[in-house]
Amino acid sequence: MKKLTSNEELILTVEELYERCFYWQDILGLQVWEFEIKIVDGDDLHDSMADIVWVLSKRQAVIRILEAEAYRKKKFSVLQDMERSLVHELVHATFAGLLSNEQDSAMWIMEEQAVNTTTNALIKLQRKRWGDPLPC
Ligand SMILES: [Zn+2]
Repeated sequence: MKKLTSNEELILTVEELYERCFYWQDILGLQVWEFEIKIVDGDDLHDSMADIVWVLSKRQAVIRILEAEAYRKKKFSVLQDMERSLVHELVHATFAGLLSNEQDSAMWIMEEQAVNTTTNALIKLQRKRWGDPLPC
């Protein structure tokens, strides 16, 4: 895998996202979950880069990731990294049922911070492991 810096664009196809999803499901212990992944345009996601809606009792979820052109138009402060968005939503799934669905609550803000911290740590570890050149 190509080494990525912390703020480099990573645009993936739906097929590539499914591959990455299976990989991360295994790491996060989400193997029994069924994820549907969609790349959607800007109108569907409002101010988000991605989102997830789950049916906990069925361990099923739909993850929606903003398509590249719409992402660029929204002028987020970081370049798009679809794998990071995917992992962020999968980390939410690991907390499914525990946390708030009210997006304005203080609990939700803390959840977002915890999910971001965990996602960044996972991505950093994974890219450090697989992205570093092999020793000669
Ligand atoms: Zn989130």
